[in-house]
Amino acid sequence: MRADFVTTAVRTGPPGHAGVSLLVIEKGTPGFTVDRALAKMGWHCSDTAELSFADVRVPAANLVGAENSGFYQIAEQFVVERIALAVHAYGIAARSLALTAAYCRERETFGKPLIANQVVRHKLVEMHRQVEVARTYTREVAARHVAGSRGDGPSVIAEACLAKQTACDAATYVCHEAVQLHGGTGYMHGTEVERHYRDARILPIGGGATEVLTDLAAKLLGYTP
Ligand SMILES: Cc1cc2nc3c(=O)[nH]c(=O)nc-3n(C[C@H](O)[C@H](O)[C@H](O)COP(=O)(O)OP(=O)(O)OC[C@H]3O[C@@H](n4cnc5c(N)ncnc54)[C@H](O)[C@@H]3O)c2cc1C
Repeated sequence: MRADFVTTAVRTGPPGHAGVSLLVIEKGTPGFTVDRALAKMGWHCSDTAELSFADVRVPAANLVGAENSGFYQIAEQFVVERIALAVHAYGIAARSLALTAAYCRERETFGKPLIANQVVRHKLVEMHRQVEVARTYTREVAARHVAGSRGDGPSVIAEACLAKQTACDAATYVCHEAVQLHGGTGYMHGTEVERHYRDARILPIGGGATEVLTDLAAKLLGYTP
């Protein structure tokens, strides 16, 4: 809604990934309109817009990189994007766990705090375990990516897919349990865990849906017919 320009992937060549280029299209270019903000379940801190393009003419100078190299440029960013989303996921999960542990100490039912119940403590431990596994694995993959390690062991590209999935699964589980342990309070707008629950839902969809990234990992890891 507010961008001064958008970088678009456009078809400039043959079908498939080798026929895509990146073009910068500036706000105000005739034929390019920002039609409306899309109402979303979560991520309200980031607006998402519906854009329209009708016979838009763009100067050749707005081409980014070589013609038909757009997909390769996008792909270069994919690993970093997947790792960043994994960090985002375990960050939301860690925050939801901290809020929930504090709430379970404070909230009393039947004359004792929630955390006095063994089943509640075990839930907190399971949330903790999933956050730690997601954080440790994601950091390990990030370190390997930064070190440029592409030789031994599974491909870093595949592992970035798996790290994203691991962290998204953790966020999905932890945010669900965080709302559950907050009871009715957790269902109310204005309770922080309710926001994390909604915000977490986009993570296994955006930046490569889990199913699509799993299929890519299958190819990269050699699990092919
Ligand atoms: C809030 C928000 C922000 C976004 N921001 C950006 C952005 O900044 N830039 C950008 O480029 N995109 C952005 N997107 C788009 C986002 O990347 C896509 O929505 C996402 O990749 C899923 O694609 P899709 O919606 O077309 O779903 P589809 O491709 O239609 O998939 C629907 C379902 O089918 C599954 N599926 C699809 N193909 C297969 C297959 N071959 N095998 C098995 N299962 C399959 C998917 O995993 C998914 O579960 C954003 C989306 C949202 C909601």
